[in-house]
Amino acid sequence: MTLPAAAELTQRAAAMLAGWRVLDQAVRVVWNDRLTTTAGRAFLKRGQIELNPGLLARAPEKLDRVLAHEAAHVAAFRLFGPNIPAHGRHWRSLMRLAGHAPEVTHDIPVHGLRRGAARPRAGRRSPT
Ligand SMILES: [Zn+2]
Repeated sequence: MTLPAAAELTQRAAAMLAGWRVLDQAVRVVWNDRLTTTAGRAFLKRGQIELNPGLLARAPEKLDRVLAHEAAHVAAFRLFGPNIPAHGRHWRSLMRLAGHAPEVTHDIPVHGLRRGAARPRAGRRSPT
């Protein structure tokens, strides 16, 4: 299974924002191969989402949830402003509305992805 192109993921993220009734649906999704154990991250003011291709290639079935996780950060910022907790009730509500469990960490194996660091301990969960 190959990972979707960033342009397609950008369309998916914009559709999620529309589903959450976010008026400003401008968003951009990029693959960032410099990410190591982080599945994704969101730059709220820019509306940019970065996803980790090396990690998500190991678990492409998790891509939708990771994309929703980051898109929900952008949506929560636009709907409720900068002073809400990152994974608080606003963000969790958006995740549930999109049909995803509001989990903060991913459980995709990260062995071999960390550069110049000790091997992760068994059972350790990495932040998305
Ligand atoms: Zn998060």
